[in-house]
Amino acid sequence: MSYPQHRFVGTGERTWQVDLAAAARVAPWAWRTPALLVTELVTMSTHFPHWLLALGHADLPVPCATCGETVIFAAGAARCVACNTPATPPVGAQLVWVGQIPTLVRPAPALTARLPALAAAGYPTVTANAARYLLVTLSVAYPDEWPHEELLVRYSPRFLELIGVGTGPSGTTHMLSEGRACLYAPGQYQGTGVAAVLQQRLVNHLASLIKIAGGTAPSEAFIGRIH
Ligand SMILES: [Zn+2]
Repeated sequence: MSYPQHRFVGTGERTWQVDLAAAARVAPWAWRTPALLVTELVTMSTHFPHWLLALGHADLPVPCATCGETVIFAAGAARCVACNTPATPPVGAQLVWVGQIPTLVRPAPALTARLPALAAAGYPTVTANAARYLLVTLSVAYPDEWPHEELLVRYSPRFLELIGVGTGPSGTTHMLSEGRACLYAPGQYQGTGVAAVLQQRLVNHLASLIKIAGGTAPSEAFIGRIH
Protein backbone atom coordinates (compact mmCIF):
# COMPACT_ATOMS: atom_id res chain seq x y z
CA MET A 1 0.00 0.00 0.00
CA SER A 2 1.04 3.60 -0.43
CA TYR A 3 0.41 6.54 1.88
CA PRO A 4 0.43 9.75 -0.11
CA GLN A 5 0.53 13.20 1.47
CA HIS A 6 0.66 16.50 -0.30
CA ARG A 7 1.17 20.14 0.44
CA PHE A 8 1.28 23.40 -1.42
CA VAL A 9 4.83 24.74 -1.38
CA GLY A 10 5.24 28.18 -2.87
CA THR A 11 3.29 28.16 -6.11
CA GLY A 12 3.45 24.38 -6.63
CA GLU A 13 2.04 21.31 -4.95
CA ARG A 14 4.31 18.58 -3.70
CA THR A 15 3.04 15.01 -3.37
CA TRP A 16 5.03 12.22 -1.75
CA GLN A 17 4.61 8.79 -0.26
CA VAL A 18 5.13 8.64 3.49
CA ASP A 19 8.20 6.46 4.04
CA LEU A 20 7.01 4.13 6.80
CA ALA A 21 10.47 2.80 7.66
CA ALA A 22 12.00 6.27 7.88
CA ALA A 23 9.14 7.40 10.11
CA ALA A 24 9.25 4.31 12.32
CA ARG A 25 12.99 4.78 12.95
CA VAL A 26 12.26 7.81 15.14
CA ALA A 27 9.40 6.26 17.13
CA PRO A 28 9.90 3.12 19.24
CA TRP A 29 6.16 2.41 19.29
CA ALA A 30 5.94 2.49 15.48
CA TRP A 31 9.04 0.33 15.13
CA ARG A 32 7.54 -2.28 17.48
CA THR A 33 4.04 -2.14 15.99
CA PRO A 34 4.11 -0.95 12.35
CA ALA A 35 0.40 -1.74 11.97
CA LEU A 36 -0.42 0.99 14.47
CA LEU A 37 1.36 3.59 12.36
CA VAL A 38 -0.43 2.36 9.23
CA THR A 39 -3.80 2.67 10.98
CA GLU A 40 -2.93 6.21 12.04
CA LEU A 41 -1.90 7.19 8.51
CA VAL A 42 -5.04 5.74 6.95
CA THR A 43 -7.35 7.31 9.54
CA MET A 44 -5.72 10.72 9.30
CA SER A 45 -5.75 10.70 5.49
CA THR A 46 -9.51 9.99 5.64
CA HIS A 47 -10.49 12.63 8.21
CA PHE A 48 -7.67 15.19 8.07
CA PRO A 49 -6.16 14.82 4.57
CA HIS A 50 -4.19 18.08 4.78
CA TRP A 51 -2.34 17.19 7.96
CA LEU A 52 1.29 16.04 7.70
CA LEU A 53 3.22 13.38 9.57
CA ALA A 54 6.41 15.17 10.59
CA LEU A 55 9.64 14.91 12.55
CA GLY A 56 9.24 16.19 16.10
CA HIS A 57 11.18 16.74 19.30
CA ALA A 58 10.01 17.85 22.76
CA ASP A 59 6.41 17.42 21.49
CA LEU A 60 6.82 20.00 18.71
CA PRO A 61 7.73 19.83 15.01
CA VAL A 62 11.45 20.14 14.24
CA PRO A 63 11.95 22.90 11.65
CA CYS A 64 14.24 22.37 8.64
CA ALA A 65 17.73 23.67 9.53
CA THR A 66 17.99 25.30 6.12
CA CYS A 67 14.62 26.99 5.61
CA GLY A 68 12.55 26.43 8.74
CA GLU A 69 9.81 24.42 7.04
CA THR A 70 8.23 21.15 8.18
CA VAL A 71 10.33 17.95 7.98
CA ILE A 72 8.42 15.01 6.52
CA PHE A 73 9.32 11.36 5.80
CA ALA A 74 9.92 10.60 2.15
CA ALA A 75 12.31 8.66 -0.10
CA GLY A 76 14.25 6.92 2.68
CA ALA A 77 14.79 9.85 5.02
CA ALA A 78 13.40 12.66 7.08
CA ARG A 79 13.61 15.62 4.69
CA CYS A 80 12.25 19.12 4.34
CA VAL A 81 8.90 19.42 2.62
CA ALA A 82 9.99 22.66 0.93
CA CYS A 83 13.73 22.41 0.11
CA ASN A 84 14.10 18.60 0.38
CA THR A 85 17.21 18.85 2.61
CA PRO A 86 17.61 15.62 4.63
CA ALA A 87 17.41 16.09 8.39
CA THR A 88 19.17 14.00 11.03
CA PRO A 89 16.59 13.11 13.70
CA PRO A 90 17.81 14.35 17.11
CA VAL A 91 18.13 12.06 20.13
CA GLY A 92 14.64 11.75 21.57
CA ALA A 93 12.95 12.44 18.23
CA GLN A 94 9.21 11.82 17.93
CA LEU A 95 6.52 11.53 15.32
CA VAL A 96 4.14 14.49 15.26
CA TRP A 97 1.21 15.57 13.14
CA VAL A 98 0.94 19.18 12.08
CA GLY A 99 -2.07 20.81 10.50
CA GLN A 100 -4.93 23.25 10.88
CA ILE A 101 -8.33 22.98 12.54
CA PRO A 102 -11.04 25.41 11.39
CA THR A 103 -13.11 26.90 14.18
CA LEU A 104 -16.22 29.02 13.84
CA VAL A 105 -15.82 32.75 14.40
CA ARG A 106 -19.01 33.89 16.16
CA PRO A 107 -19.84 37.58 16.08
CA ALA A 108 -18.16 39.07 19.15
CA PRO A 109 -16.40 42.43 19.06
CA ALA A 110 -13.61 41.25 21.37
CA LEU A 111 -12.83 38.40 18.99
CA THR A 112 -13.19 40.45 15.81
CA ALA A 113 -10.65 42.92 17.17
CA ARG A 114 -8.11 40.13 17.51
CA LEU A 115 -8.46 38.77 13.96
CA PRO A 116 -6.04 41.11 12.12
CA ALA A 117 -3.16 40.28 14.48
CA LEU A 118 -4.04 36.58 14.23
CA ALA A 119 -3.99 36.74 10.42
CA ALA A 120 -0.61 38.51 10.48
CA ALA A 121 0.77 35.73 12.70
CA GLY A 122 -0.37 32.95 10.33
CA TYR A 123 -3.90 32.30 11.62
CA PRO A 124 -6.12 33.45 8.76
CA THR A 125 -9.88 33.26 8.46
CA VAL A 126 -11.77 31.65 5.59
CA THR A 127 -15.42 31.93 4.67
CA ALA A 128 -17.48 28.86 3.79
CA ASN A 129 -21.28 28.62 3.49
CA ALA A 130 -21.63 32.19 4.74
CA ALA A 131 -19.80 31.33 7.96
CA ARG A 132 -16.36 32.57 8.93
CA TYR A 133 -13.75 30.19 10.30
CA LEU A 134 -10.39 30.79 11.92
CA LEU A 135 -7.70 28.32 10.81
CA VAL A 136 -5.66 27.30 13.84
CA THR A 137 -2.36 25.48 13.40
CA LEU A 138 -1.72 22.73 15.94
CA SER A 139 0.65 19.87 16.56
CA VAL A 140 -0.03 16.47 18.06
CA ALA A 141 2.92 14.41 19.28
CA TYR A 142 3.11 10.71 20.07
CA PRO A 143 4.89 9.97 23.37
CA ASP A 144 7.43 7.13 23.21
CA GLU A 145 5.08 4.77 25.02
CA TRP A 146 2.03 5.51 22.89
CA PRO A 147 -0.72 4.19 22.95
CA HIS A 148 -0.20 3.58 26.68
CA GLU A 149 0.53 7.27 27.27
CA GLU A 150 -1.64 10.18 26.17
CA LEU A 151 -1.06 12.10 22.95
CA LEU A 152 0.33 15.62 23.43
CA VAL A 153 -1.76 18.28 21.69
CA ARG A 154 -0.21 21.76 21.62
CA TYR A 155 -1.26 25.22 20.59
CA SER A 156 1.53 27.65 19.82
CA PRO A 157 2.24 30.10 22.68
CA ARG A 158 1.89 32.93 20.14
CA PHE A 159 -1.66 31.83 19.27
CA LEU A 160 -2.67 31.66 22.93
CA GLU A 161 -1.22 35.10 23.55
CA LEU A 162 -3.11 36.54 20.57
CA ILE A 163 -6.45 35.18 21.78
CA GLY A 164 -5.81 36.37 25.33
CA VAL A 165 -5.43 32.94 26.93
CA GLY A 166 -2.35 32.08 28.99
CA THR A 167 -0.08 29.18 28.00
CA GLY A 168 -1.01 27.45 31.25
CA PRO A 169 -1.15 25.57 33.43
CA SER A 170 -4.73 26.52 34.26
CA GLY A 171 -7.71 24.51 35.40
CA THR A 172 -10.17 27.16 34.24
CA THR A 173 -8.92 27.19 30.64
CA HIS A 174 -8.06 23.46 30.64
CA MET A 175 -4.44 24.09 29.74
CA LEU A 176 -1.45 22.10 30.95
CA SER A 177 2.02 23.64 30.68
CA GLU A 178 3.50 25.32 27.60
CA GLY A 179 0.42 25.42 25.43
CA ARG A 180 -0.61 21.82 25.89
CA ALA A 181 -4.36 21.25 25.90
CA CYS A 182 -5.81 19.28 28.81
CA LEU A 183 -8.18 16.93 27.01
CA TYR A 184 -8.59 13.98 29.39
CA ALA A 185 -9.05 13.52 33.10
CA PRO A 186 -6.33 11.42 34.76
CA GLY A 187 -6.71 7.77 33.75
CA GLN A 188 -9.39 8.55 31.18
CA TYR A 189 -7.30 8.25 28.01
CA GLN A 190 -7.62 4.84 26.36
CA GLY A 191 -5.12 4.91 23.50
CA THR A 192 -7.34 6.87 21.09
CA GLY A 193 -5.67 7.80 17.79
CA VAL A 194 -4.93 11.33 16.61
CA ALA A 195 -7.99 11.76 14.35
CA ALA A 196 -10.45 10.79 17.09
CA VAL A 197 -8.71 12.95 19.71
CA LEU A 198 -8.99 15.92 17.37
CA GLN A 199 -12.66 15.23 16.57
CA GLN A 200 -13.87 14.18 20.00
CA ARG A 201 -11.84 16.49 22.25
CA LEU A 202 -9.75 19.14 20.57
CA VAL A 203 -12.47 20.68 18.42
CA ASN A 204 -14.52 21.43 21.55
CA HIS A 205 -11.50 22.62 23.49
CA LEU A 206 -10.61 25.06 20.72
CA ALA A 207 -14.22 26.29 20.43
CA SER A 208 -14.15 27.05 24.16
CA LEU A 209 -10.88 29.00 23.87
CA ILE A 210 -12.38 31.04 21.03
CA LYS A 211 -15.39 31.84 23.25
CA ILE A 212 -12.97 33.15 25.87
CA ALA A 213 -11.26 35.23 23.16
CA GLY A 214 -14.69 36.71 22.44
CA GLY A 215 -15.26 37.73 26.03
CA THR A 216 -16.99 34.70 27.58
CA ALA A 217 -15.82 33.80 31.09
CA PRO A 218 -13.70 30.61 31.12
CA SER A 219 -16.07 28.96 33.59
CA GLU A 220 -18.93 29.47 31.09
CA ALA A 221 -16.90 28.69 27.98
CA PHE A 222 -16.05 25.17 29.11
CA ILE A 223 -19.41 24.16 30.59
CA GLY A 224 -20.32 20.63 29.62
CA ARG A 225 -17.57 20.37 27.05
CA ILE A 226 -14.47 18.70 28.38
CA HIS A 227 -13.98 15.71 30.69
ZN1 LIG B 1 14.00 23.31 4.09
